[in-house]
Amino acid sequence: SPAIVWFRKDLRLADNPALHRAVESGAPVIPVFILEDGSDTIRAPGGAGRWWLHHSLERLGEALGKAGAPLVLRRGDAAEAIAALIDETGAGSLYWSDSFDPATKARDDTIRADLSGRGLTVESFNATLLFDPSAIRSKAGTPFKVFTPFWRTLSSGPEPERPLPEPAKIKNVEKTPGSDALSSFGLLPTRPDWAGGIRESWVPGEAAAAERLHDFLDEIVQDYRTGRDRPGRDGTSRLSPYLHWGEVSPRQVWHAAKMRMDAGLEPSIEAFLREIGWREFTHGLLQTHPDLAAEPMDQRFTKMPWRQDDEGLKAWQRGLTGFPIVDAGMRQLWQTGWMHNRVRMITGSFLVKDLLVRWQEGEAWFWDTLVDADAANNSANWQWIAGCGADPSPFFRVFNPVLQGEKFDPDGAYVSRYVPELAKLPPKFIHHPWDAPKNVLAKAGVELGKTYPHPIVDHATARDRALEALRTMRRQV
Ligand code: FAD
Repeated sequence: SPAIVWFRKDLRLADNPALHRAVESGAPVIPVFILEDGSDTIRAPGGAGRWWLHHSLERLGEALGKAGAPLVLRRGDAAEAIAALIDETGAGSLYWSDSFDPATKARDDTIRADLSGRGLTVESFNATLLFDPSAIRSKAGTPFKVFTPFWRTLSSGPEPERPLPEPAKIKNVEKTPGSDALSSFGLLPTRPDWAGGIRESWVPGEAAAAERLHDFLDEIVQDYRTGRDRPGRDGTSRLSPYLHWGEVSPRQVWHAAKMRMDAGLEPSIEAFLREIGWREFTHGLLQTHPDLAAEPMDQRFTKMPWRQDDEGLKAWQRGLTGFPIVDAGMRQLWQTGWMHNRVRMITGSFLVKDLLVRWQEGEAWFWDTLVDADAANNSANWQWIAGCGADPSPFFRVFNPVLQGEKFDPDGAYVSRYVPELAKLPPKFIHHPWDAPKNVLAKAGVELGKTYPHPIVDHATARDRALEALRTMRRQV
């Protein structure tokens, strides 16, 4: 009887243990993807994520079709969709890649118990992380709450398994089950079509992920240790959406990076693998803190006197705060569906500290606009910025957006690209146009308050307000 391979956040053929096991079993294979919108427990992807998913499914469908087994698309409750497919095809086995998000895992466990009880073979595999987070524990057997010892333990332990090869041929069923049309999923924006900049910036899919990994390791990685903090350069891997959707596996990334180790690149490769380690760490946090997107890990922060500032929030979302590095980041996000890590930290700090707006508002906006929006990485990093997460940056450390801009975008290349109305300002003033003499502004065609906004807060005053809020919180707990 046929084997069903349920594709989820593993939209690839290579290093896909669920697919591998199904093919190895010798059974005809039915690959399926189920769009679970409308679930009460599983968070649906945001707008940019849906765009990515559409194209990723398109690529996956092509690759599976070429290998011999067309992808079946279904929509609705996953348990019902799987049950229907089993009824239609007489499938005797089901394989998938594990989720470490507690809500999804609980649902998966119910499906597993139900189908195993009916005599089906049900197997799932870790394909999204280097290790199951519950395998990385302190000497006392508890989950790590601090990154450095977590990383020491992970990186000094056994090597992650070697990636599996892509199956050359997949046996098809005699009668392919009916599939929904991808267009019927409605994953792409229509009116307005806001995805133009995202289309120009990204090629989803397994082949593009492999190409990017190799370009990164062939060249960009050489300068990663310093270049990764320069948003004006192409200095990081940009693998985050591919890793999120599983178009490349962390094991593939890990072993490909390790192979370059001997070329004198150790410090850069190690710095890069450490970031892959952060990804493992945040997924472990989500496993032990199911409410990571909503509940501060440090409960004292429920008493923080956050401000309701709809106008400030809107200015931040639109990249109109009057702080060039913040605005450049928010516009990069809106236009391309991605933002450089350094600038995610700067814009995040600006929202929660300069504006004193709840970090959950930032989390939600990033969730909707990032192509790599990820339940573990996004929530954990927002908590880190807000000072309430595991091993966080303390709340009293408030980034100064002007100094951050000058340090990490010294030539103003990044601001010029995303805030073109400031592009003609000399680098000396580009991060604080309000200090530029009138004639310099005029020559650059900048009229503050008209072509570009005045700063919406005074940073020094806003910083004092944030620190006062912190004192208020501490008095209450
Ligand atoms: P590289 O520097 O090349 O790193 C390689 C990989 O390591 C990344 O692709 C990513 O998978 C992982 N990684 C890097 N930094 C981190 C980190 N701080 N935490 C966890 N994993 C990391 N990353 C997401 O993938 N999805 C998110 O939704 C997300 N939201 C964020 C929100 C905020 C407020 C902040 C400060 C960071 C967030 N990050 C998120 C982490 C990080 O900014 C991105 O992973 C990174 O910018 C992606 O670019 P890259 O692939 O070129 O990274």
